[in-house]
Amino acid sequence: VSADRYQKRRARALESSEAAGLAGLVVTPGSDFVYLTGHEADPYERLTLLILAVGRDPVLLVPTLERPLAEAAPGMDGVEIVDWRDSEDAHEVAARILRSGRYAINDQTWASHLLELERATADCMFVPAGRALPLLRAVKDDEEVELLRAVARAADAAFADLVEIAFAGQRELEVAEVVRERLLERGHETADFAIVASGPNGASPHHGAGERAIETGDAVVLDFGGTGAGYYSDITRTVFVGEPSEEQRAVYDVVRAAQQAAFDAIRPGVAAQDVDRSARAVISEAGYAERFVHRTGHGIGLDLHEPPYIVEGNETALEPGMTFSDEPGIYLPGRFGVRIEDQVVVTRSGAERLNDASREPTVVA
Ligand code: ZN
Ligand code: ZN
Ligand code: ZN
Repeated sequence: VSADRYQKRRARALESSEAAGLAGLVVTPGSDFVYLTGHEADPYERLTLLILAVGRDPVLLVPTLERPLAEAAPGMDGVEIVDWRDSEDAHEVAARILRSGRYAINDQTWASHLLELERATADCMFVPAGRALPLLRAVKDDEEVELLRAVARAADAAFADLVEIAFAGQRELEVAEVVRERLLERGHETADFAIVASGPNGASPHHGAGERAIETGDAVVLDFGGTGAGYYSDITRTVFVGEPSEEQRAVYDVVRAAQQAAFDAIRPGVAAQDVDRSARAVISEAGYAERFVHRTGHGIGLDLHEPPYIVEGNETALEPGMTFSDEPGIYLPGRFGVRIEDQVVVTRSGAERLNDASREPTVVA
C-alpha cells in the first residue's frame, strides 16, 4: 500500500466522523488501526492509541519502547508520535490529548482499555465504530480488490487440488489438514480455518472438523480460507462422496440457484438486505425457508467478517468497490447441509465474483 493512501484514508475517516457528529475516532491495534497507519502493532495491556480528532493533526500514542517500531511504519507521514513510559498512566496521557466530545472507538479495542479511557476522561464519550462508522473500510480501492482477488484465486486453486483426494474413510480432521496445507501451497500466508462438515455435521453451519470418518453417500461442506497480504479468502463448496441422492442433488440445485439469484441482485444502489431477500426467496419457494438459518453474507477485507452485512434490516446502499460473501445454505438437522460461497465485488454495473472455482455439483471419491 503506497504511503499517501494512509493519509487519504485518515482524511476520509475524519470526514465521516464529522458527518456522523463525532469529535473524532480513536483506534487501538486491530484491522482499523492497520488500515489507517500501516503499523501492524499487536494489542496488549500497554496502550497504543491513534487519535483522529476533527480540526487537528493525527496523534499516535505509543509505549516508549515501541516508538522505533511506530516511526518505521509505512503510513506515519503527518502523524505526531507521542510516547509514554511504563511509570506513567497511559490512559491519563491519552485523556490530556483528547478534547471533550463523542468519539468512535474501534470494535476490537480491549474492554480494559475502553474502561480505563472512560475512567480517565471526564467529558469524553465512546461509541462503537462498527455502529457509528460501519463503512470505514467497506469500499475497497483497486489495490485492495486486486489483493482480495489474488487470495480468492489461491483458495480456488486449493479447492481444485482438494477434489482430487479420496474422502471416503478419512476423518474430517485429516481432510482439514490437507485443506490447510493446500491453502499455504497455493499462496496463502496464513491458513486460518478449514470447516470439513460431513454428513449430519453439515447441518451445523460452523461445525469445524472432527473425528467423524467420511462415508460414501455423504455431502461434505468445505468452507476454508486464510490471508494473503493481510486480506482474507473465504470459500465454500459442498461436494458429494459418490453420486448424490436425488434429494441431495435437489437441495444442491436450490442453493446454487439462490446463490446465483443473490449475485444477480447485486448492483450499486441496491440495499444490502435486498440481496439477502433474493437468495431467501429462492430457498423459501422450494420449501426450505426455516432451514436457511443465517444471513446471506458478510463483508470481507482485513477482517474475515466485516461490514457490509448482507442481512434483513441492513438498508446500506451497495457501492462499487464493496466486497462481501454470497453464501446461502440449507441445513437439514441429523442429515446433511449444503452451502455455496463466493466472494464478490460490486462493480459499476453489477458485480464480479472473485472466486471462480466450479459451482457444478462435484463428486469426489
Ligand atoms: Zn461463517
Ligand atoms: Zn466461509
Ligand atoms: Zn463467509
